[in-house]
Amino acid sequence: MNYYEIKFNGIKVGSHSNSFEIKDKFFDTFENSEIKQAEITASTKLNKQDNKTTLDINLVGTINNIPCDICTEKIDIPISSKMNYVIKEGDKNNVYNEDVIIVNAFENTICLKNYFYEMISLALPAKRQHKLNATNNIECSKEMINLIEKYSYKNNEIMDPRWEALNDIKLK
Ligand SMILES: [Zn+2]
Repeated sequence: MNYYEIKFNGIKVGSHSNSFEIKDKFFDTFENSEIKQAEITASTKLNKQDNKTTLDINLVGTINNIPCDICTEKIDIPISSKMNYVIKEGDKNNVYNEDVIIVNAFENTICLKNYFYEMISLALPAKRQHKLNATNNIECSKEMINLIEKYSYKNNEIMDPRWEALNDIKLK
């Protein structure tokens, strides 16, 4: 049984809810994923009507261990994401807009793994930073920032020939 599948064929008219836990293992199949760890709950609601079937997906949780842009310490980023899809039976080669999930009439289930993955990837913000605290200071690791500053200062010293020239002067 694929854990990220919902039943589609033969379901009754009405609303059908499911819930899925998305954890670290989920990302194993996505080799190039920047995200490797997360704790997310995906709630799905399939609403079957006589003439239209829709699927709402709601993701809430955290993407874990993403390096902070400023201090590089790993942080957990809370996410919350919603998508509403229309489900259509038909040929998967037909091009519809991105809010449509195409299923073949003979398929019994819909696998949502790729849809979840896409939503999670899109929910990861371009800017990943520690939160601001009550006094509007960023909660970055001071230790890490000190290390980064120390390291880049050292590098500058080595890289910049002007510093070497100054050192020579001092020695004389
Ligand atoms: Zn930080």
